[in-house]
Amino acid sequence: MSKSKDVTIPDNIRGYSQVRLDVDLTSGEIKESTLSKEFCRDWIGGYGFAAKVLWDELKPGVDPLSPDNVFIYAQGPFPTTILPTSSKYGVFAKSPLTGMFGMAISSGSVGAQARRAGINMIVFKGKAPEPVYLVVDDDDRYLVPCKDTVWGKGCWETEEILREEFQDQRLAVMAIGQAGERMSRLACITNDRNRQAGRTGMGAVMGSKNLKAVAFRGTKGVKVAQPVEFYKLAKKLIKVANGPATAKYRDQGTPAGLLSYNKLGMFPVNNYREGTWDKIVDIVNGEVLNDEWVVKKVGCSQCSIACDHLARVPKTHPDYPNLVASVDVELVYGYGTACGNSDWPTIFKCITQCDDWGIDAISGGVTCAMACELFEEGIITKEDLGYELPFGSTKNLVRFNEEMILGKGFPGEIFGDGTKMAGIRLEEKGRKNAGYYAMQIKGLEMPAFDIHGMTSFAVGESVSIRGACHLRNGAYGLDAKGTFDRFSYEKPVERGQQIKEVEDVYALIDSYVICKFTRGIYENDAEMAKVYELVTGIPHTEESILARGDAIVTLSKCFNIREGWKRDDDHPPERFFKQAHTRGPAKGFTLEEKGYQTLLSGYYKARGWDENTGIPTDETLKKLGLDFVIGKLKKSGGK
Ligand code: SF4
Repeated sequence: MSKSKDVTIPDNIRGYSQVRLDVDLTSGEIKESTLSKEFCRDWIGGYGFAAKVLWDELKPGVDPLSPDNVFIYAQGPFPTTILPTSSKYGVFAKSPLTGMFGMAISSGSVGAQARRAGINMIVFKGKAPEPVYLVVDDDDRYLVPCKDTVWGKGCWETEEILREEFQDQRLAVMAIGQAGERMSRLACITNDRNRQAGRTGMGAVMGSKNLKAVAFRGTKGVKVAQPVEFYKLAKKLIKVANGPATAKYRDQGTPAGLLSYNKLGMFPVNNYREGTWDKIVDIVNGEVLNDEWVVKKVGCSQCSIACDHLARVPKTHPDYPNLVASVDVELVYGYGTACGNSDWPTIFKCITQCDDWGIDAISGGVTCAMACELFEEGIITKEDLGYELPFGSTKNLVRFNEEMILGKGFPGEIFGDGTKMAGIRLEEKGRKNAGYYAMQIKGLEMPAFDIHGMTSFAVGESVSIRGACHLRNGAYGLDAKGTFDRFSYEKPVERGQQIKEVEDVYALIDSYVICKFTRGIYENDAEMAKVYELVTGIPHTEESILARGDAIVTLSKCFNIREGWKRDDDHPPERFFKQAHTRGPAKGFTLEEKGYQTLLSGYYKARGWDENTGIPTDETLKKLGLDFVIGKLKKSGGK
């Protein structure tokens, strides 16, 4: 494996602005420094930048909602180039939801405007004495007190007010809503109204720092290292991006895959009691959504795929006339199938509550699904809520969702910080076994895959650095495509190797900070490496750049170990081992502990981590250029 330091860096690198801003919110001081060429080469951008900074600069063991947490905005070298889907950014911190590596990626216009303002990374520390927002307006960077203006307002109104204030509809605003201000561990960051950096509670970290929003605009250009060659390759990629490789996302948005996953018994229904549903075939699918509800398709800056599908409720609807929602497959799952709900306007209403008041709609939906099941099991009651909440609820689901997000009443008190905390709080009140219904891994609510019959993804989703996640590890493809028998535990190391490889590529994509939908537009990983070289001038090869993906995953794993991670944290909820579906292809099947542990060890081994403890070996750390970690894990007690 070639080492990053063997990759020669030219005198001038391109793409990156190399500008790091350090914002000390406690003192209000803002400093600018230059990211070194070596830092850019070794950590690529976005996720990689943050993995290194959080390792170096976050004191182990801090309370994620204290001023000691470090909150990072980071992007890669591509925004404002013509590379498809490259106007993206990431936010990172120790997660208040999981207590481990927190990260969320969003699209829209923020990445492009931040790059035009010359930004590569912003590191926020401390806590502002009163609510503020940060303005990055080309070379003007300043904090604005906002207690009497936008504090207390939703994400949508905040964006509108700031755009109005600047008399500029292109102003890119990432903002938190009421949920972030009250530090709900589910809180997200919203930008461009419909785009969210949703997962792991990054909005709560902003709220804990009294940071309401960040607004960007700029006029700077970007230089690329080999413009003629880059233009040629980017034009080809744009053509492919407009062709069959992404047609399903253009036509039906992300709900395109609903019917096929339902057929495989992989689409969660009623909080994972089942993996298929006849109402998915008849009502809750991408075809019906697009034929009957979608009125507009919207693309982010630098993207012609336009996967954001806006649905509108007719003006004659008695409850939500003219309501417009941005619909994604995960939200159709969260507020639809997971809650046993096939009423589209209810799904749309719940989505808008999440997006505007500012919580992650996946976590929100899964938390509502837990509440529905707890209600059906008699663990929570009408006396607790003031109303009934069985699966299939509509108006009461909307009511529960509002109370949960805004921290009101029993739903806010018990469920306002997600499923894991709800289970703990209910069990503390003597409601036995409540935690069993929390569908989460490491504290993060599960995405739209039912893993009863997905032995590869059971591991891939569980080892994900940020908790249950299909966007850090795409091993669901191994099950869906039949690469390995999805009901068996065969070939643990070979399978572990493939789970690792897809995770490494995803880490690279999150460091480039581009959309995973576009992975298919590249002929191969060598072409992904090429595009990096043509833009930056840094001659990473396929081998050397994929090794950086490996290093980034391993470093963020080391971060988790330092924060107290144990092997048991890489484990799916008990339901998958105890309770089988009663219908569909996975009927009667449950995961087996011994088989699961064999696959997990196979994955650790493939990564060069100790196959028993899951801790990276010194040899692996050296091979990946992570020598600076050696000796630090044991000292901090990781096992
Ligand atoms: S594929 Fe979708 S999320 Fe990604 S950049 Fe395009 S419109 Fe935005």
